Amino acid sequence: MKNKALFILFIIGVMLFSCKKQTSIEILSGPVGTNDNRQVGASAGELLSATSYVSLVVELQYSPGMQLQPQTLINLQDFLEQRLHKPGGIVIQSKQVGSIGKQTVTTSDIAAFTDQNRKAYTDGNRITVYVYIADASFSTTNVVGIAYRNTAVCLFGKTIQSNSGGINQASRVKVESGVLLHEIGHILGLVNNGAAMVTAHEDGDNRAHCTNTNCLMYYTIETTGLMNMLNNNIPQLDANCINDLRASGGK
Ligand SMILES: [Zn+2]
Ligand SMILES: [Zn+2]
Repeated sequence: MKNKALFILFIIGVMLFSCKKQTSIEILSGPVGTNDNRQVGASAGELLSATSYVSLVVELQYSPGMQLQPQTLINLQDFLEQRLHKPGGIVIQSKQVGSIGKQTVTTSDIAAFTDQNRKAYTDGNRITVYVYIADASFSTTNVVGIAYRNTAVCLFGKTIQSNSGGINQASRVKVESGVLLHEIGHILGLVNNGAAMVTAHEDGDNRAHCTNTNCLMYYTIETTGLMNMLNNNIPQLDANCINDLRASGGK
């Protein structure tokens, strides 16, 4: 009898949990984690301005062998300081985690890995961003990075390493930085995906990307196409993208 009652309680618990998960996109504040389980672009204003959150913690986790170059972390810090209003500070924490355990992964695999490993969640007046460097390739060939939640992005470290740093290849720092900042650009709402456009510049053929072939938000930046550009300058945001970020509360 007691076991039966416990079992019913367990089932009710599971049902409550599932319901909460399904509706979490609409929940703006609540239990730990729900703030960070929304769609890409949903936190653009929260990340850019200091209205809701005055500080930012970037939790960066990499699988064995996938650690980013020190200069890439400096480039990330500089980019965030340059565009975000976070008077309480911006801190990047980098840590090794286990392998994702597959050669090729889907967005669902990455989401499941995130739920198991992510420690920092948005709370109080501090917003968090999760960056995962996977020891795997993505199920869509040639894609080297994705933004998959409002505060989460993933880089495919294996694909990046095999396409950078060699003869006739762009440097590791350029490719890592280009892809990472591009994906961060997506969670900041670019292009037309959370940050409204001041001037129309969304690529009609590639949703949420910029029409300017020289812009950080051009669609090829998150594919192995970036590695074909042999100069080692890291792509920058163009004026249209910067104007959008400013109009949504950024610098
Ligand atoms: Zn993109
Ligand atoms: Zn642009």
